[in-house]
Amino acid sequence: MAEFEKTLSAIPLKDLKIDDSFWNERLRLVTEEMIPYQLDSLCDRVPGAPPSRCVRNLRIAAGLEEGRFEGFVFQDTDLAKWLEAVAYSLSFKPDRELERTADEMIDLVIKAQRENGYLNSYFSTLYPGRQFCNLKEGHELYTAGHFIEAAVAYYNVTGKDRFLKAMCRFADLICQVFHTPEYEDAVPGHEEIELALMRLYEATGRERYRRMAYDFVNRRGTTDYLSRESSLPRFIDVWHDRNPYIPEYGQAQAPVREQKTVEGHAVRALYLLSAMADLAGSYRDRGLLDACERLYENVTQRRMYITGGVGSSGTLERFTADFDLPNDSAYAESCASAALAMFCKRMARVTGEARYMDTAELALYNTVLAGTAMDGKSFFYVNPLEVVPGFHKPATDKAHVEPRRRKWFGCACCPPNIARTIASLGEYVLFRGEDELRLNLFIGGIYRTRLGDTDVVVNVRSVFPQEGVVNVRIWARGPMKGRFLIRVPEYAESTSFTVNDEPAKPEYCRGYAALELSGEKVEIDFSFEMRPKLVYADPRVTADAGKAAVKRGPLVYCLEEADNGPGLSALAIDPEEPLTEEFELSLLSGCVRVEALGTRDTWEAGLYSTRPPDKRPCRLRFVPYCFWGNRRPGEMTVWVRLKC
Ligand SMILES: [Zn+2]
Repeated sequence: MAEFEKTLSAIPLKDLKIDDSFWNERLRLVTEEMIPYQLDSLCDRVPGAPPSRCVRNLRIAAGLEEGRFEGFVFQDTDLAKWLEAVAYSLSFKPDRELERTADEMIDLVIKAQRENGYLNSYFSTLYPGRQFCNLKEGHELYTAGHFIEAAVAYYNVTGKDRFLKAMCRFADLICQVFHTPEYEDAVPGHEEIELALMRLYEATGRERYRRMAYDFVNRRGTTDYLSRESSLPRFIDVWHDRNPYIPEYGQAQAPVREQKTVEGHAVRALYLLSAMADLAGSYRDRGLLDACERLYENVTQRRMYITGGVGSSGTLERFTADFDLPNDSAYAESCASAALAMFCKRMARVTGEARYMDTAELALYNTVLAGTAMDGKSFFYVNPLEVVPGFHKPATDKAHVEPRRRKWFGCACCPPNIARTIASLGEYVLFRGEDELRLNLFIGGIYRTRLGDTDVVVNVRSVFPQEGVVNVRIWARGPMKGRFLIRVPEYAESTSFTVNDEPAKPEYCRGYAALELSGEKVEIDFSFEMRPKLVYADPRVTADAGKAAVKRGPLVYCLEEADNGPGLSALAIDPEEPLTEEFELSLLSGCVRVEALGTRDTWEAGLYSTRPPDKRPCRLRFVPYCFWGNRRPGEMTVWVRLKC
């Protein structure tokens, strides 16, 4: 059972600058490609991409344009997430022109807001004067949450409080309405507002926001509000779903403190867990923390793909059953892995345990990164672990799987979510405690913070994930007193530490190696081996039985047709032969390729035959999963049969 770690906090983004051989390019894509491209998409300026109508809807709500709302009920959130990504990007790449555009968008959002603080272009234009009439499907509180998150991010980075004040008015309305008798047992259909209110509480210190988040979390699973909502006189039928409400789909099958398995819609579940982790830490609520730990174990030990993907079913985008992790029909929404990373970051902060960062790293380096193309201009919503182009016929259980990234989506939750997640990466790297600093991810950069009462600058340099080599220099304005902790990931072998060039023996503490700091300047070197390894799955994962995957450090690898020819299912890997690795500058913008020996089945019979296939030796070439689908379209697989 974890203890509360009471003082850990992330370094504010305005006090750090990432400078890292692996992530610089990804951050450049966010600022130079994704943010401008996504704005064009939101303004319907991308030829050939489905129109978003997001900005147009808000203009109609603001009375600046005539027309009728188009898109999903939550269409506003795409702009909210874009604004949040912009805020983060301004922290590491100031851009007056972009900030001016963001200010204009914020003006538009505020103009679209009603007198009483309410904001939602769908309901404001189609049902003027009505609000909170369909919590089950209307996504008003989900949309509110994204606007609040964006406003907090914008305030934290730019110091401008206009957007924050406007969203406080909205949050105040929510706190008021959801404590009136007619809403006292109401819960949001799609979680998000809970974690957003916690962020607003942290930014403003106003207890009412924290209390509202706590009440929403504690109500879930204890009330039948969402089941009976459609019979209330105020109900507006927005989704026309004739199916009865499934409590499990919205994590309402039991009170959250009693839940034993993570159920339902994956993004909702992980946004809820993120808020539960925040609240557990903030109120030091043991029951909530126990539930978070239990549900984390259930996700990571029974319901998560090796890539950090979660939510295996394309039907209702949901968790299904323990060990049900099909590769070719996997849903594993990009947003769900971003949400998993968000939850794990919070758990690491609340408990001080490194294992949560192992999972956050896995999700970030694999599924979140795979969600976007290497040019930043196309995206995956769904992240399968096995693809055969042509198998994804409409109206089948693989209809949602796509062999190529798309320019945009009618439901475009993922692209801006990926952008905001990558742009906020700095929040994951280094935590500050009372008299300690802890390095969670091996991401280079300059981090300005305090150790006790002393101002310090931490310069992290690394060549990770190519190699396990990390150098940390810490400068202080005065003598330092405290500890520096470095996460030792499960894949690190032959670890070695030096402090000021002298070999050091750290103390190990909850997955971190702790080193004492003294003097005004300290240099720490941490190195480890990170050999490619075969990984096997619990045999109860029927899709992976008799197969292996290749992993090197945090990166999961895959076979692609571009390197191995067609017919990847004919390949088998020899587990007795060593894996070899080589850095190739020309491969996918420079990455470590892994090779293995194995066999390829040859087959000249019909569909079935009593004669087993002939096998000929061959070499299998693996590339990082996060970069798949960036060459010509073709087959891909993560799991490979074992040679027998
Ligand atoms: Zn999504």
